[in-house]
Order: sequence, then structure tokens, then C-alpha cells
Amino acid sequence: MKLVIKMWKGLINKYKKYLPVKNDQKIITLNEGNTPLIKADWLSEKYDFDLYLKFEGANPSGSFKDRGMTLAVTKALEENSKAIICASTGNTSASAAAYGARSRLKTFVVVPKAKIAKGKLSQALIYGAQIIPIKGNFDKALEIVRKLTEKHALTLVNSLNPFRIEGQKTAAFEIADQLKNNELDILALPVGNAGNITAYWKGFKEYYNENIINYLPQMFGFQAAGSAAMVKEKIIKNPDTIATAIRIGNPVNRDKARNAMEESNGLFDSLTDEEIKEAHYLLASKEGVFVEPASATPVAGLIKLSKENKKDLTNKKIVAVLTGNGLKDQEFVLDNYSLPNSIEGDFKTVENFINI
Ligand SMILES: *Cc1c(COP(=O)(O)O)cnc(C)c1O
Repeated sequence: MKLVIKMWKGLINKYKKYLPVKNDQKIITLNEGNTPLIKADWLSEKYDFDLYLKFEGANPSGSFKDRGMTLAVTKALEENSKAIICASTGNTSASAAAYGARSRLKTFVVVPKAKIAKGKLSQALIYGAQIIPIKGNFDKALEIVRKLTEKHALTLVNSLNPFRIEGQKTAAFEIADQLKNNELDILALPVGNAGNITAYWKGFKEYYNENIINYLPQMFGFQAAGSAAMVKEKIIKNPDTIATAIRIGNPVNRDKARNAMEESNGLFDSLTDEEIKEAHYLLASKEGVFVEPASATPVAGLIKLSKENKKDLTNKKIVAVLTGNGLKDQEFVLDNYSLPNSIEGDFKTVENFINI
């Protein structure tokens, strides 16, 4: 008897029908996607909604960026590119560096020298990308990278690259497939450069148009108060927040994101760093799901809407997209919560220390 091993071979393999790839194209993959959808029992009970967490931190480089990167790098190779480049608040550089290593394309990452989580930087370093730290923020880095790609034969792998959006839309397919016949009312996610909200909306609409689902969720985009460019409808000159992944003042996908919000009858809202920190803590301590601060933003947003009675979320089926893994930003935890002092390493001392 022949043994058939059913293995997940990545999202391009799974959703090829909906993606711009040729059948004989060599695919650069780390078997990304197929991330867990986890019922948030504690939060659902407390706030009277029906909340599920799409844990994108389970992707190979620890964030949803891998969904777009597998396609962007596969296409770069198809187009005979010699090198890829991105500007990044951290996760795009980690992902580009991983897929760059796998494809053997030279990889350049331009990052703000400060305000990048060390976990992300160490990823880019060990994957072997050429790291270019600049004295300036993400928006400045992106401006430079865009100019470079206009002038030189480099493939831009930021979310301006349409293949990034195409790859990322598969997360909407996965959620719909995971929910089976259950209709999703609301999708909540953090918004930085606004590529992901654009991608999700595209994905849900495509499934709807193919008659695979008969609903379209409302898109709720949440930002940090210090970098709330979509909420305030302006460019934020000096964006600031603890949620470094969304510390972006001039989202490049602004128009598409606004369209997604309006077409879906959704909303944009912003959260203070305190509110984000609280949701980050609740996700870990009540649900057992450790995310990076930016990823807690949609949960903070849902809690806020529920507390302020701004929207009736009662019994609504909601998916919050948890974009990145908590292990990427350990400094945030260690800076904000204190470890206990050490004690003598003998049985009695440890036994006395334990209070049951
Ligand atoms: C990139 C990123 C975001 C923001 O996504 P956009 O597509 O830029 O809006 C949010 N959270 C994490 C962890 C990210 O890496």
C-alpha cells in the first residue's frame, strides 16, 4: 500500500486558482499560512461577543507578512530579478530576509535605527539580509526605497507590490474556510501601511463573487492614537506608539483601505498605548495567546467599542487578526513587567515560596 502523506504545502499551492502564478513556476515557500483560528473564550464571555483569533504569529517568520512575501518573491524570481528590497518597521524585513534566503536573491532591508523590535532585527541578521539602518522613521525609509527601485533593478517587496496584497488575501479565504457555514460579521485588524485591510477585503469579495460565501464582513481597522493617519485623515509627521509595527504616519495604501472600510460599512478607530498594552496583557494572560503589541490593537478596539457602547457587538461573530508573534518583542514585556528576584536553590526555600 502506498503511504499518502497529506502535507500543507503553503498558500500558493492551496489557493493557486485565485493567484497570478503559472503552473510550472518554481514556488518559493516556507509552507506559510494555515494558521490557527482560536476561539477567545474569556474575552467572548466578558464582552458578550463571539470572538475568534486568527493567529498569524504562527507563520514561519512569525507574522502575516509571509503570506505576501511567498508570492512577491516567487514573482521576483519569475521576472529574473537579482535583488529584493524593502523598508520596514521590522516584520517585512524579517519576512523578506527569510524568503530572500530561500530564493537566493540578494536582500536589502532599510529600517529605522531606533524603534525596531530586537527580535525582528535579529531575524533579518541571521537570515543574511543586508541591513541598512537609517536615522529616520519608516515613512522616510519607504520614500528612499521607492526612489531606489525606480532607478535601479531592484524588486520592491513592500505592500505597494501588488503581489503582496494578492498573497495576503488568502488569509480571508482561510478564515472563511475555517468558519465553514458560519457567517462572519466583523473582521478587526491593526492598520499601519494599510495593505492588509486592503488584502482581506479583496479576498472576501473574491470568495463572495465566486459564491463560496454569501456574506461580507464589516472591516474594522484599528490604529494607535499616536499614528492614526486613517482615523484623522491626515499625514502624521512624527508617528509614535509602543506598537512599533504600526508606527506609520503616511500609509501608502490609504485610498484602498478607506474604500474597504466604506464599502464594507466598517470603521476606523484609534487606541491609546495604555489600551493596547491592556489588550496585549489580556490576550496572553486570559487566552494564552502571546502577540506583539501592534497585534493587540484590534482586540483593544473591540473592548473599547463594547465598553463605550459605541457599536452593538452583542453576539456578533468577530475575527481579530493577530498579525505578529509576541516573541518578536520581548523587550516590551521585560520593560513593563518585572521578573521576581531569585531565591536559594534548595527544596525548603522553594517549597516555602509556593503558596497553594
Ligand atoms: C505590518 C504589520 C501590521 C500592519 O499591516 P499593514 O498592512 O501595514 O496595515 C500590523 N501588525 C504587524 C505585526 C505587522 O507586522
